Amino acid sequence: MKYIKKSFYEMSITELASDFAKEEINPKAASLLYRHFYKEKSTEACAHHNLSKKAKAYLSDHYSFDLPIINNVHISEDLTVKFLIEFNDGEKVESVLIPFQNKYTLCLSTQVGCAMKCSFCFTGTQGLKRQLSTSEIIGQFILAWNWLKINRPMESKTQQLKNIVFMGQGEPLHNFDAVKKACEILLDQHGASLGCQKITISTAGYLPGLKRWNEEMPGVNLALSLHSVVEEKRNELIPINKRFPLNEIMDYIRTIPLARKQYIIFEYLLIKDFNDSIEDAIACGEYLKDVQAIINLIPFNPFPGSLYQKPDAKTVLAFQQKITEYNIPALLRTTKGDDILAACGQLNTKINSLTSLNSSPAKRL
Ligand code: SF4
Repeated sequence: MKYIKKSFYEMSITELASDFAKEEINPKAASLLYRHFYKEKSTEACAHHNLSKKAKAYLSDHYSFDLPIINNVHISEDLTVKFLIEFNDGEKVESVLIPFQNKYTLCLSTQVGCAMKCSFCFTGTQGLKRQLSTSEIIGQFILAWNWLKINRPMESKTQQLKNIVFMGQGEPLHNFDAVKKACEILLDQHGASLGCQKITISTAGYLPGLKRWNEEMPGVNLALSLHSVVEEKRNELIPINKRFPLNEIMDYIRTIPLARKQYIIFEYLLIKDFNDSIEDAIACGEYLKDVQAIINLIPFNPFPGSLYQKPDAKTVLAFQQKITEYNIPALLRTTKGDDILAACGQLNTKINSLTSLNSSPAKRL
């Protein structure tokens, strides 16, 4: 008899254990499987001798271990790697592996396209096509880890993939359940065992999702796309600001208790002659001076057809200097992977599939 199979990568360890218990299989099989697939990151079937015959037969009949496929890889001059990931139904997203200070950070996508339509964002031009499932989010992590193991074997040992940011395509809090479960899987101590501080979820300010954060989300870092504290400017950049204004978002964020060492990251995309003036920096500093904040300053990365320009280096430094006068740490994020359109706001699967990005420095494997 053929059964409809569940994806293993969709299951929390508790769900697996309870599924096994119902079949009178030792629930400890769940932790063995987590170790095999998430700690050792094996893509082979689990032949662990502690798994009973019954457990193996049940797994083979009822579970799928299929992963999405890597349709395309582009490698930047700075060694950033952009993957085009293809799912069962042919839909595609991008995830980006970013080398930084002897570690890798993986930027994961959470939706095919995005409904938020931010005016500076390539993905926003696609509109929302569909949500990703937990297994499709986790699949991006497993694929990137294995790519690293095969293609940069030395680095996969010494510069492991330790940080996850949900900053790829899609608004993560608009796909709350799948993202929450993906975090729980990545945090589980039997598996990948990432620390809460190693995972950051970025939101454009989707209040309904944010309102579930306090009660439901494990204590991972929160990043808010700020980009301006001036209402008209933020409305232009992030249209959902009209529905969920910044003041309402901040009122809610203030109610989230911060665990020790946890802080709120504010992302600020600096756009030439739009939000990069000293007046903008003063407005931002005044707005955030009483918040436990870190600001990431990101010079805008233009993409084909974008409305905005990159600011010059002198303006960026002056903005940073003004913010630090408010005792707010302002980190200048160096642009990674902009030669392969892998930098912030540049992801767009349509362009990746259709254009010849593999010209110039980007390689196609
Ligand atoms: S910036 Fe993020 S939230 Fe805004 S359109 Fe792009 S992917 Fe969506």
